[in-house]
Amino acid sequence: MIPFVDLRAAHAEVAEEVLQGFDRVLQNTSFVQGPDVAAFEEEFAAFSGVPHCVGVGNGTDAIELALRACGLPPGAGAVLPANTFVATAEAVVRAGLRPILADCDDDHLLLDPESAATATGPDTAAILPVHLYGQQAPMAAVHELAARRGLAVVEDGAQSQGSEQAGRPPVGLAATSFYPGKNLGAYGEAGAVLASSPGPARAIRLLTSHGSEVKYRHETLGFNSRLDTLQAVVLRAKLKRLARWNELRRAAADRYETLLSGVDGVRLPRTAPGNVHVWHLYVIRVPERDKVLAGLQEAGVQAQIHYPVPVHLQPAFRHLGHGPGDFPVAEKAAGEILSLPMHPHLTPAQQEEVAETLAKVLGQL
Ligand SMILES: *Cc1c(COP(=O)(O)O)cnc(C)c1O
Repeated sequence: MIPFVDLRAAHAEVAEEVLQGFDRVLQNTSFVQGPDVAAFEEEFAAFSGVPHCVGVGNGTDAIELALRACGLPPGAGAVLPANTFVATAEAVVRAGLRPILADCDDDHLLLDPESAATATGPDTAAILPVHLYGQQAPMAAVHELAARRGLAVVEDGAQSQGSEQAGRPPVGLAATSFYPGKNLGAYGEAGAVLASSPGPARAIRLLTSHGSEVKYRHETLGFNSRLDTLQAVVLRAKLKRLARWNELRRAAADRYETLLSGVDGVRLPRTAPGNVHVWHLYVIRVPERDKVLAGLQEAGVQAQIHYPVPVHLQPAFRHLGHGPGDFPVAEKAAGEILSLPMHPHLTPAQQEEVAETLAKVLGQL
């Protein structure tokens, strides 16, 4: 059996530190907004090279709160790629905006700036590039479009902690998720927003805590979406290892490339020029994907699909009025993509077995 992720192995590395940290919190009973939260926010901001970080309850809230902090007109449009986890679109709706979908590019499955430009209308107010699978969307082109059309930029960095892009404009607002399986994963729900300036950071912090900075004085209608103190303890311990874990993911991706480049029918993932990829997911493309997936699973290789149905074909987004054929690149990819096991503790022997099994399954089609 080759697992898709190995959260137990990651835990083994941090167990002692986490348990000591939990004990510290249990002893001083600072369960909400304890000192570990502020410390993690500072450490994650420094790691990301962005001045401000606000911890929040989860990644979906992070996107919604970042959008809310932009103060956009209610009902305005927000452009996002059709091939993302549904939360990106969900957060747009929850922020009182209207999702406007765009297609992705066929080489990297990242937001296609030309499709985004075409989708942008007079009432479009925001754009949400998604750093899908662990590499950043083309941020220079996104910012160029945003400047030309007056759009707020909110990055969905749920899958890209530690990624880089040469020559990109600085982050304005970026949301991220610490869902357990992400590159930086908590032991429950957690997320954060990175912000370049103090104004939006403060606005987001107000929203996370009932619109209140001073106890029982509520400046605005808010939420309860704070980063949990016990999760902050976990995240602090894991953040210290994240750069090395991302290195191990890159080494694993290199090994997959060597092992799979000779296998007929496999289309390998590509890193866009200038990007440093952190391989949240290793997504290949194959013919007859559902059969291949079933064959792998039968042989004990836990592959998955991210994501089988694009946003515009989800029942929940029927009201957007889209149908099959509207985003052809995203739709075609949805039928071909296959995520292979990928995590920092994946061994070369496991990868060889994945490659052998995949070659066998493809050979039997
Ligand atoms: C995980 C994820 C989210 C949502 O994060 P949660 O913490 O699960 O709410 C949003 N966007 C993308 C691309 C994700 O992968």
